[in-house]
Amino acid sequence: MLSRLVEPHKVERFANLLDRAGKVVLTAHVSPDGDAVGATLAMWHFLKAKGKDAHVVLPNAFPDTLAWLPGAKDVVLHDKDAGLAEQLLADADVVCCMDFNAARRVGAMHEALARSGAVKIMVDHHPGPEDFCSLVISHPELSSTSELVFRLVCAMGCWYDLSYESAVCICTGMMTDTGGFTYNSNNPETYYIISKLLEKGIDKDDIYRRVFNTQSEGRLRLMGHMLSECMTVLQDYAAAVVVLTREDFCKFPVNKGDTEGFVNMPLSIRGIIFSAFLREDKDMIKVSLRSVGDFACNELAEKYFGGGGHKNASGGEFHGTMDEAKELMKKALFEYQDRLVAARRANQDN
Ligand code: 5GP
Ligand code: MN
Repeated sequence: MLSRLVEPHKVERFANLLDRAGKVVLTAHVSPDGDAVGATLAMWHFLKAKGKDAHVVLPNAFPDTLAWLPGAKDVVLHDKDAGLAEQLLADADVVCCMDFNAARRVGAMHEALARSGAVKIMVDHHPGPEDFCSLVISHPELSSTSELVFRLVCAMGCWYDLSYESAVCICTGMMTDTGGFTYNSNNPETYYIISKLLEKGIDKDDIYRRVFNTQSEGRLRLMGHMLSECMTVLQDYAAAVVVLTREDFCKFPVNKGDTEGFVNMPLSIRGIIFSAFLREDKDMIKVSLRSVGDFACNELAEKYFGGGGHKNASGGEFHGTMDEAKELMKKALFEYQDRLVAARRANQDN
């Protein structure tokens, strides 16, 4: 049995709003990951089966490893077709903002989202939801937004209506946001949900293979280069910093999404509980942070890189040169050194 996490009055309002809506848009954060795409598509299949005029509109492309997801080809990308994306947002009666907690997380789509007169509903699991939706269904204690979609569907009494396609998308989101059930995945109910998805006929092992074991050759070679040339291990700080410049990228046939997951790799080194990944993009330096245990990397992301996220997985941006970004990271590490070392000790004691 699932505990009733979502307050009944919110479930009722959610159901009513969707019921009354003619047109629904499901959207998620910029550079959508498996959970963002999984949650929006799961909800999309669910609404389509109910006869709704629903569309998934995402700010920009998702990784190729998710292109096989049922419905992925029907996703409208704002950076490819801004006209259509903005029209859909403008025409919508309801917009579900999924897997993000702040309006600016949709990047360049931000203004179109703000302009839309639709009722906005947040369905999310990031801590600290900001005030831009009239209904906020926010559960940071959950593994993923996809898990929240499952719970909402069940809470609305629609478990029997949940399709195989939705089940595949939900499993993908839960799997990717927990690194294949290796973190944020100690809640027994997570596995109860997976068992219910298996009842819908999904092949969990095949989903794992498609998501994690269908990488490009270029990505694997870039990973080798990164590990040997671009990673600095700072045992005195219980930390590792990885820096990838555009020059590094040019050496390998890779796409932007191909660095997904790189930030986790230094955490497999004994004694390292914090990993920072600085990637030089076209117009900024993207910062990805990961930690293990007590150390809250979202605090560092917020304070130094104008970002945020979860306790153990966060990120931000830096506008300036890579040398300046590295310098700022050095400063941050210096400030947090005692806490990092204490968190490592606490981990070892456990
Ligand atoms: P990733 O490192 O995979 O890009 O992001 C991990 C998590 O960090 C995301 O799920 C999101 O919660 C958070 N995050 C990443 N980048 C940003 C950012 O620029 N701003 C905020 N507020 N959160 C971010
Ligand atoms: Mn998520």
